[in-house]
Amino acid sequence: MKHSTLLIHAYFRFNRLGILLRPFLFIGSCCLLCLPALLNAQEGESNVVVTQEVWGQYEGEEIKRFTLSNQYGMRVSVTNWGAYVTSIVVPDKQGAFEDVVLGYDSADEYVHDCCYNGATVGRFANRIAGGHFRIDGKPVQLSVKRDGGNKGNHAHGGEVGFNKKLWHARQVRGGVEMRYLSLDGEEGYPGNANVTVLYRLNANNEFTVSFSATSDKTTPVNLISHIYFNLTGNQKRDIEQHKLRVDASDLVQVKKGLLPTGKLMRVEGTPFDLTIAATLHERLTSEHEQLKLASGQDKTHGGFDHTWVFNRYDGKLQHQLQLYEPDSGRVLDILTTQPGVHVYTGNFMNGSAIGKQGKAMTFRSGVALETQHFADSVNQPQFPSTLLRPGETYSESTVYRFGSRQ
Ligand code: BGC
Repeated sequence: MKHSTLLIHAYFRFNRLGILLRPFLFIGSCCLLCLPALLNAQEGESNVVVTQEVWGQYEGEEIKRFTLSNQYGMRVSVTNWGAYVTSIVVPDKQGAFEDVVLGYDSADEYVHDCCYNGATVGRFANRIAGGHFRIDGKPVQLSVKRDGGNKGNHAHGGEVGFNKKLWHARQVRGGVEMRYLSLDGEEGYPGNANVTVLYRLNANNEFTVSFSATSDKTTPVNLISHIYFNLTGNQKRDIEQHKLRVDASDLVQVKKGLLPTGKLMRVEGTPFDLTIAATLHERLTSEHEQLKLASGQDKTHGGFDHTWVFNRYDGKLQHQLQLYEPDSGRVLDILTTQPGVHVYTGNFMNGSAIGKQGKAMTFRSGVALETQHFADSVNQPQFPSTLLRPGETYSESTVYRFGSRQ
């Protein structure tokens, strides 16, 4: 065959092959083109819009409020004052959108907040007995509360914790990142700690809070989001008819002042057994010594102000608890990397704090579900360690997934 004929043959063969392969090539290129969208869909962040506004002032600096919205109408607002979560608006079983977290209407009210209503709490959330502990044999003394139930102990990061600081915030894809540099010696803590909280929303109605931190000296870290939930929507009723399920067979046993005894208590046969969903009212009106230790307004029964120890904990994100409100049908599933959840049922709420739309935060207006490490871990070597050492990165995430059922 002549050289030119060979070429023509080759051309036709290739062309025929081309025709045969065309559908595959078409599908292949479509897949390539769709890849970013597919990845986005997997992350569920594709259509999250973030907006920001100047919301107030603090000592000449701007307090900003950011709103994250997804394509299904879910909206979450956060502010760089104290890195608070100020609202979460989600649909009920009829599709009606309402706010399911307690808080206030203005930035100024957040500056004066009494009760960590949606705040980021740190450097160490919950209590440390006497504010005292040792790191590698060296004594550390943190600030202690001068009055109230936590008198003489360190609580929620001290007098001026992370909730009373202005954070640096910037928009990122699908969310907002906030940073705060906590200086060596602040509230008695050793080391300059660089702290970041990342707020993200996605198309699965999942709101994720991720904390990370590094420090130049060994320091205890226990960062939490102190959101009070009320799934009735716009605080229509209290939280007593909510049902709570926690995958935990043990509770961190406490003594007076809600300080851990160092022991765990089996929940089986007690009002603390939430392995099967239980109505809060039924549990909070039961008789139990541990309940009474968290008395507040109800001196007879007390309430929940305790930490449940998850059965499955390996530091990875796991589904650990569910809150459900029958009237609205709203369901909140919580996945977390943390070892436990501190449940606080608003036992001290007495109506003195006035929240959104002028509504008073009365007894049991909200339930705080604080995924965290255990109180006083620095004095309890049997608890998972909360010490962050130089060169290490603290990293914890919690996913709040909202849905509804009929
Ligand atoms: C504590 C409660 C306290 C509440 C508000 C919770 O995390 O455990 O005892 O009353 O925060 O400060």
